Amino acid sequence: MSSGLKRVLRRRRRLSPGESTESLARRLNPRRSALPERVRDSTRSGPLDLEARWAPLSAAPEDRAALCGPDAAARADTYRRSIENYIGEVRIPLGVAGPLRVNGLAARADYYVPLATHEAALVASFSRGMHAISAAGGCAAWVMNHGVTRAPAFVFSTTGQAGRFVAWLSGRTAALKKAARTTTRHGTLIDARVNVEGNHVYVIFEYETGDAAGQNMVTLATEAVCRWIISNTPVAPRTWYVEANMSGDKKASAQSYLTVRGRKATAEVAIRSALCVKWLGVAPDALAEFWRVSAVGGAMCGTIGLHGHIANGLAALFIACGQDAACVAEASVGVTRMEVTSAGDLYAAVTLPGLIVGTVGGGTDLPTPRACLRILGLHGADKAHAFAELCAGVVLAGELSLSAAICAHHFTRAHARLARGQRKAARES
Ligand code: NAP
Repeated sequence: MSSGLKRVLRRRRRLSPGESTESLARRLNPRRSALPERVRDSTRSGPLDLEARWAPLSAAPEDRAALCGPDAAARADTYRRSIENYIGEVRIPLGVAGPLRVNGLAARADYYVPLATHEAALVASFSRGMHAISAAGGCAAWVMNHGVTRAPAFVFSTTGQAGRFVAWLSGRTAALKKAARTTTRHGTLIDARVNVEGNHVYVIFEYETGDAAGQNMVTLATEAVCRWIISNTPVAPRTWYVEANMSGDKKASAQSYLTVRGRKATAEVAIRSALCVKWLGVAPDALAEFWRVSAVGGAMCGTIGLHGHIANGLAALFIACGQDAACVAEASVGVTRMEVTSAGDLYAAVTLPGLIVGTVGGGTDLPTPRACLRILGLHGADKAHAFAELCAGVVLAGELSLSAAICAHHFTRAHARLARGQRKAARES
């Protein structure tokens, strides 16, 4: 997070040049003047509630109409369990890519994939990757692990007490599972790991969550487990927290990368050289060489995992399909590999260990996500593993297409043409 001193100086010179540094610093002081009207937090969204929320916003009528037209107001009740202080809806364009043929253990179909984004070139690029994969017979995909973590911490006065607590806890697995079970029919506590740090004990509880993404499920279950612990432990902690930031929830973490958070899925494809050239515009050896160069680049800049742009496809798919968009932070840690087979074909694979996804619960029953999941045939029970496999296939398509575009020097041109409407990019990088 460091900044070069010269850059600091340059930034200071550009920032209000005639103003003293002292005066600038004073701008950062707290202001004690009266605040405008406070938003009254509520899940009610009747016409009067909406009116009251819009009143202080000083929004132009056309801006209010764009965010809260009659449709948005009429749907207020639909979002009762999804949002507080409702004032309307944000619309994001939806495109379709594919078909993507997935030969998964759970997902076995040719999927037309809905993607919500306003990044021009993204849908076209993913669609191209999907065509290449499908022309090659499809991608294999499977989920090899499933576990959603919650990590409470227990704070003791001494490390000796922490040790006694851990010794006691280690014999209580059955009781912990039973306590978790009181809160959910579909969630199962499958593992618990402890970390002692001085007088702190962090416990990582791991659950299978059925077809739900599971963050609420594991929070409720872990709260019940912690309360059972507090009621029964012979070594009382000074305090405890239901989550102490060691689960990896909504952040890239080495722990989730090395194990799992959500579903761990992998997808692979072998594409014959002629098909590779036909659909991606480059030969397998060019893609493999680019992968090597980009892997070194990624390693040198310290990324967790090795890949081109996992977040791009997942963000668009998550938003379309009612997944928690913030989970892209953890879901987009993974590994992509491309190499040339002994037969001269392209072998490409992606592995994603942090797919927090579900086909029930969360946002999946809201009108537009449900419609997108239904287009995929992946809404409801017994579909979550298939959705995770599809995620891996979509990401694989994006990795192939991006790499091909950079190899063929089309990357800049595609963005210039699709995002800026230019026939030719002024300059290719
Ligand atoms: P949820 O909608 O809170 O829970 C899933 C619900 O679906 C449960 O009531 C579950 O019943 C039920 N269910 C029915 N059939 C199921 C099946 N086949 N498999 C699994 N569950 C089934 O959703 P969630 O996945 O637990 O949580 C996701 C939401 O949590 C997202 O909206 C996310 O934004 C939010 N979130 C919460 C936290 C947090 O810490 N609380 C953190 C991050 C995100 P049973 O419970 O009886 O099994």
